[in-house]
Amino acid sequence: MADRISVLLIEDNPIHARLIQNLLEESTTSVFDLNSADRLSTGIERLSGGNIDVVLLDLVLPDSQELETLERVRAAAPEMPIVILTSLDDVTLAAKAVEEGAQDFLIKTETNSRTLTRSIHYAIERTRARKEEWDATMFRLAQQQFLKASQLMGLDVNVQERLLFPQRTHIVTFPFRRDEYNQVETVFGYRVQHLLTMGPTKGGIRYHTDVNLGEVSALAMWMTWKCALMNLPFGGAKGGVRIDPTGLSRRELQRLTRRYTSEIIDIIGPDKDIPAPDMGTDEQVMAWLMDTYSQQKGYTVPGVVTGKPVVLGGSLGRREATGRGLVYLVEAAADHTGLDLNGATAVVQGFGNVGSSTAKFLEEDGAKVLAVSDVTTGIYNPNGLSVQALFDYVAENRFLEGYTEGDTVTNEELLEIECDVLAPCALQNQITGENADRINCKILAEGANGPTTLEADEVLNGKGVFVLPDVLGNAGGVTVSYFEWVQDTQNYMWTLKEINERLHAILLDAFERSIKRATSEGYDLRTAALIEGIQRVTQAKLLRGVFP
Ligand code: NAD
Repeated sequence: MADRISVLLIEDNPIHARLIQNLLEESTTSVFDLNSADRLSTGIERLSGGNIDVVLLDLVLPDSQELETLERVRAAAPEMPIVILTSLDDVTLAAKAVEEGAQDFLIKTETNSRTLTRSIHYAIERTRARKEEWDATMFRLAQQQFLKASQLMGLDVNVQERLLFPQRTHIVTFPFRRDEYNQVETVFGYRVQHLLTMGPTKGGIRYHTDVNLGEVSALAMWMTWKCALMNLPFGGAKGGVRIDPTGLSRRELQRLTRRYTSEIIDIIGPDKDIPAPDMGTDEQVMAWLMDTYSQQKGYTVPGVVTGKPVVLGGSLGRREATGRGLVYLVEAAADHTGLDLNGATAVVQGFGNVGSSTAKFLEEDGAKVLAVSDVTTGIYNPNGLSVQALFDYVAENRFLEGYTEGDTVTNEELLEIECDVLAPCALQNQITGENADRINCKILAEGANGPTTLEADEVLNGKGVFVLPDVLGNAGGVTVSYFEWVQDTQNYMWTLKEINERLHAILLDAFERSIKRATSEGYDLRTAALIEGIQRVTQAKLLRGVFP
């Protein structure tokens, strides 16, 4: 899908303004919403109206000259990416403007649609990279949750400080070739290892435009608690590339994955850090990752990733494990709260790996799936949707958009549909202080990581919603990933029945321990589950001691 970018062009020469407008319209990769101003004062007024992603700025205007123009724009919008538009004889001035904080400059008469689009794209990327690496909503949420749990459990403050930030972070920028051979794209990639105390680190790889250091660190921290809660011998890790994978061809995705793998190759390995799929990545991506790693080592190393195709050493049941595990836990929560899943109603946000299998297993339990959604749309049918028909449609059309056996709803509306089980299985930050009051379900089953804010948690707990928190709810994925790693490193082959029975036993044990702690100590289930994990990690850290 093409990006949609809102551009403010501040340029007084009508011929140059027209030229830039034409170049923006010609772009094949982005859609630009163009605002124009021929004076600085008008431009600054537009900026204060908000909703601008990037400014294209001529420094010589009727009401402002040279670097003062830049200073005034930066004073009005300090975080705004700015690309200077210059003429050939003003290049020195434009270069100075870059030194003063503009992201790039372009010579108006020498530029074409592709260079202009790329310059805008990179200006936005660079600004994000400079300003927002740690400052992600998700990282703040993960830290707040951890601080709340650690205060309540009276965690040793030395351990608390150590665990608040990841142990190792690795940021790379790397190029990959687009299908158009002479076009090379440079992107940011990350691999974060939160805790190396427990064994190798473990965690997925996400391809998404929101990926930054903070987001990946939040996900790595949650992996630490999740693995410890499940008693798995891993610390948490996570990786990602800031890119929209839906805009890539399969060959581009392969080149991106292979190059990203070689950039992080020194810090991954079956004894070091074992990636797996997450949003925007799948079995095929894991196969390329494993192949790239193995090529470098000179022999096949299946244990370097989990979530691979079965034929390459993947585990039976891994593809569906997160959704299957979530539904095992929904069954336990239904038993606990006295809800009969047979005939109950369910709504699932996200129809990727986790969402689609969650919908499938809920339907197998006799629940009526009222609504599902993906990035393109939501589909609602009060009489129930056929999950198989949705699978068939998505297999053919990639997205849910255009599916006709129901009404269209937005992702926001979908969350507010009255149902027994609501399963957010797409993005973080979906249930917030703003909409928590209107959430109308009995069990909130978190397939996604971080879908609920702390403020929303309080509202939901107050309303008596049974919240199955992410660290518990979606832990089926990493649990079967652990089985896959054990099978790869020990050359075992387990049957699907063995996998599912072991998965069920591990999840139920964690569920019962969390419920017991929540009941006996008066915590909500999220806090109780986090404390279960944090306590195990703390014991291990104290036993190992501080080096040297
Ligand atoms: P996926 O890429 O397979 O699917 C993501 C789904 O979310 C897609 O249907 C996509 O269209 C949809 N989506 C994307 N943006 C959206 C938006 N703005 N609004 C609504 N829907 C949107 O990813 P996945 O592996 O299913 O992961 C989903 C969530 O589950 C993530 O939070 C991930 O961290 C978590 N998770 C995944 C696993 C796993 O094993 N894959 C394990 C544990 C947790």
